[in-house]
Amino acid sequence: MKFGGTSMAGTERIRRVANIVRKQAAGGNEVAVVVSAMAGETDRLVNFCREANALYDPAEYDVVVASGEQVTSGLLALTLQSLGCKARSWLGWQLPVRTVEAHAKARVDSIDGEALANSMAEGEIAVIPGFQGVSEDGRITTMGRGGSDTSAVAVAAAVKADRCDIYTDVDGVYTTDPRIVAKARKLKAVTYEEMLELASVGAKVLQTRSVGLAMKEGVRVQVLSSFVGDDAVPADELPGTMIVSEEEMDELVEKGEVERQHVTGIAHDKNEAKIILTRVPDKPGAVAHIFEPLAAASINVDMIIQNVGRDKGETDVTFTVPQADLARAQALLEDKREDIGFNRIITDSQIAKISVVGVGMKSHAGVAATMFKALADRGINIQAITTSEIKVSVMIDEDETELAVRVLHTAYGLDAADEAA
Ligand code: ADP
Ligand code: ASP
Ligand code: MG
Repeated sequence: MKFGGTSMAGTERIRRVANIVRKQAAGGNEVAVVVSAMAGETDRLVNFCREANALYDPAEYDVVVASGEQVTSGLLALTLQSLGCKARSWLGWQLPVRTVEAHAKARVDSIDGEALANSMAEGEIAVIPGFQGVSEDGRITTMGRGGSDTSAVAVAAAVKADRCDIYTDVDGVYTTDPRIVAKARKLKAVTYEEMLELASVGAKVLQTRSVGLAMKEGVRVQVLSSFVGDDAVPADELPGTMIVSEEEMDELVEKGEVERQHVTGIAHDKNEAKIILTRVPDKPGAVAHIFEPLAAASINVDMIIQNVGRDKGETDVTFTVPQADLARAQALLEDKREDIGFNRIITDSQIAKISVVGVGMKSHAGVAATMFKALADRGINIQAITTSEIKVSVMIDEDETELAVRVLHTAYGLDAADEAA
């Protein structure tokens, strides 16, 4: 069971979580619980790091931001004990949750499930702070924003859990963020592939890596709400959203339980920033000079546009990076100004990426055309476009995000019928 930040925001909420956990354990289940920091806490800690040093050392950043989950794991263990349950916390370094790669975006390599399984078998509820792990050289790491989802899936895989229930503040995965579109519809099931794509383009209900890991390890994941009354239906009967394989989805469609659409969902992402380098030499190797230092610093570049070269063998190169990496990216590029040979560096964080996702696109033409027309009809300007087999994304002005998502939701016929809304 995993509980997100809103579910853990304060001792009162933690008591409700403890009740849900207690019921699950009382039903004869061995339970491990992964928790997030209280809502807003990680943001607060990240801000402290920025204030302390704008170009912060990611290793020390991890020391600071991992603390939020340490607090909630201890509090949940205490609350469970107060309800008469046997419970203890297991910090990332105690399990241990071994991670590799860069600080602040570490990847789970392995979890030693043995001690955990033993303690669970003795009827002790294991409470594990999400988001945190330990590096090969023994330092604290964190797994990137939303990383508790990945911690939960990794723990589920390590103890070979029957299911990984992700409890959050909405009761499932919707056709789009239900906070933006009131007529969004809850999906009974969504395939790993679609969920992976939706998450990677901004549907933050699950962290992208958690879906990739679940797919690889065959972990059954369900998304459901922790905001339920005392007479809560047990998780086995809750109408959440199951993440399923293609085969399971085909079966559900055949049984008439799920309807297939060309577009499954729409996501938005306001966390990217645009960088434009002007007057870059239009010659082989120029683009490599731009992206090598960013790659070396583990900065992910998403959309890339290289304009047609103008006179004097020069061109502009535009690309996006996570907003959190903008300052570092800018500093790195300034450092390499001579090598790259650009004239000006222009940045803009007032952009958003809107994406439509669906496996139906593989066999159905016209999905992109519908998108462009619907946005054009509302006068929304498209600054860049990228596509994959099951996704089309556009970059637009951040102010038009909500409008664009609503317009597209309607254009693809995803709105819930009025009587159902
Ligand atoms: P938690 O703190 O539990 O991890 P998050 O805030 O990370 O919760 O994720 C849940 C939020 O994801 C919801 O409150 C909702 O606003 C947002 N969200 C975005 N896209 C979707 C979607 N397609 N379906 C459901 N929720 C979504
Ligand atoms: N607390 C971390 C975050 O806010 C991890 C998580 O909640 O999943 O990103
Ligand atoms: Mg989350």
